[in-house]
Amino acid sequence: MRTLVWFRGKDLRVSDHPPLIDAVRDGEAIPLFVLDPFFFAPERARELPARMQFLLESLAELSRSIEALGSRLLLAEGRSIDVIPRLAREWRVDRVAAHRWVEPFARERDRRVAAALTVPFDLYEGETLRPPGTLRTGAGHPFSVFTPFARAFLASAEIPEPIAAPRSLPAVPADVALAGRPLPTLASFGIAPNPNLVRGGETAAHERLRQFVSGGAARYASERDRMDHAGTSRLSQDLKFGTISARTVWHAVGAATNAPHDVRVFRNELIWREFAHSTLWDRPELSHTPFRAEFENFPWTFSADRWRAWSDGATGYPVVDAASRQLLGEGFVHNRARMIAASFLTKHLMIHYREGEAHYMQYLVDGDWAQNNFGWQWSAGCGCDAQAYFRVFNPMLQGKKFDPDGAYVRRWVPELARVPARWIHSPWEAPGAVLHEAGVRLGVDYPRPIVDHAAARAHFLATARQHMARWRGGE
Ligand code: FAD
Repeated sequence: MRTLVWFRGKDLRVSDHPPLIDAVRDGEAIPLFVLDPFFFAPERARELPARMQFLLESLAELSRSIEALGSRLLLAEGRSIDVIPRLAREWRVDRVAAHRWVEPFARERDRRVAAALTVPFDLYEGETLRPPGTLRTGAGHPFSVFTPFARAFLASAEIPEPIAAPRSLPAVPADVALAGRPLPTLASFGIAPNPNLVRGGETAAHERLRQFVSGGAARYASERDRMDHAGTSRLSQDLKFGTISARTVWHAVGAATNAPHDVRVFRNELIWREFAHSTLWDRPELSHTPFRAEFENFPWTFSADRWRAWSDGATGYPVVDAASRQLLGEGFVHNRARMIAASFLTKHLMIHYREGEAHYMQYLVDGDWAQNNFGWQWSAGCGCDAQAYFRVFNPMLQGKKFDPDGAYVRRWVPELARVPARWIHSPWEAPGAVLHEAGVRLGVDYPRPIVDHAAARAHFLATARQHMARWRGGE
C-alpha cells in the first residue's frame, strides 16, 4: 500500500499523527506539503507576517524530523486541488491521507480534491478532541449554549491517549520524483522576522507544555485572567498549527493530579475550543453572518479615525491600547485583553465585529478561523452566548481587577510607565501634578479618551434596544 501523507498546516508534527502512523504500518509513505498560493502567494504571505513566521519555522522543523526518521518532506507548489490529484496519479498512490479541517473554504477544497482523485481520500479526525458536529442535544440538534455542550462533552467516551511518533519512516520510493523546492524564507516574501514571536516547531511546543505542566497548570484557575502574569499555557498557536495535538495537551495537563480544580478549569478552555470548531462545522455560514439573526442588519458604524485609534492602540483607554499594541508587538493578546478590546471596538465604538475579526486574523500567530470568529461574535454579543449584548466591559474596572498594579499597561504603553497604579487605568482622572511627575501630557504624550465610557455604553445599549425592538416587530 502506498500512501500520500498530506501535511496541511494544522498537523505540523510527527508525534500523535495517525495518518502518518497508519501509512507506515501499511507500507510506503510519501510525506508532502503543498505551498498553495492561497497562503504562499507573496502578497498573501505578507498579509500574515506573524503566522507565516511561525508556519515556516514549524515546517522547517517538521522537515528535519522527517529526515531524521529516514524519509523526506516533499514540497510541491500550486493549488492543492490541482497538485494533489496530479501527484497521486503520477506517483500511483493507493490512497491520500490527511487531517480534516472544519472551515467552509477548506471543506470545499477537500470536496474538490476528493472529486478529482481516483483513489480514496481518507480524512482523519484529530484537530479537535472529538470530531466536530458529533455532540448533539437530546432533540438531536447542535448545541447553541456552552454549558450543556461541555456537559455532553465530558459525559462522552474518554479522549484517546496520544500515540508516539514512528521510530522510523520508510524512504520515499525511488520512482517518486519531485523537482526539489527549498522551503521559502521570510526574506523571500519581504517579511522582516519578529524576534518577539513565540518560536515555531514541535520541540518548542512540547517545551511550552512541559513548562506549563510543571508550573502554571496548578495555579491556572486563579491566574488565567491576570493580564500582568504569565498564567496561561501559551499553546494556542501550537494547537492551531498542530505542532502539538490537543489530545497530548489534554492528557499531559490531566496528569497534573495535584490540582484537580485547575485541571478542570484548563480543560474547560479546551472544551471552548471544541465548541468553537463544532459550531463552525455545524453552521458554516457563521464565517460571514452573525449567530444571532437579529444582528444581521445591526447599525454598526465605521469611522476611519476611530478605527485607527483602536487598531494603533491610541484610544486613551490604557488597557484597550495595551491589547492592540500587544497584538502588533508579539502577535498575541491575553484572552482577557482580547475580550476587553473586542467589546470596546464593537460596543463603545460600534464598529462591526468583522473589522476586528479580520485585523486579529491578520496579526495573531494563533489566528484561527473558528476560534477567532467565535471570540469576536461572543464579544460583540451576537454569538453563542447566554448573556447576549447587554454585557459592555468597563475597561477601567477590568484593568483594576485583572491588571491591579498596571504592569500589563506599563509594558505595552510605556508612555504611562510612571503613572501610579491608582490612575494607570484612567490617567485622565489623575491630578495634574501626578501626571506632571509621571512625565505625561494628556493629548500630547498619550491621548485623552476618544469616547466617554458612560455615554458610549448608554448609546450602544439604546441603539441595540431600539434595533432589537424593530427587528422583533418586523420578524
Ligand atoms: P490557555 O488559557 O492556556 O488555554 C488553553 C487553550 O484553550 C488555548 O490555547 C486555546 O486553544 C483554548 N482556549 C482558551 N480560551 C479559549 C476561548 N475563549 N475560546 C476558544 N478556545 C480557547 N484563540 C485562538 O486560538 N485563536 C484565535 O484566533 C482566537 N481569537 C480570539 C478572539 C477573541 C476576540 C477572543 C475573545 C478570544 C480569541 N481566542 C482565540 C481565544 C483565546 O483568547 C486564546 O485561545 C487564548 O488567549 C490563548 O492563550 P493560551 O494558549 O495561553 O490559552
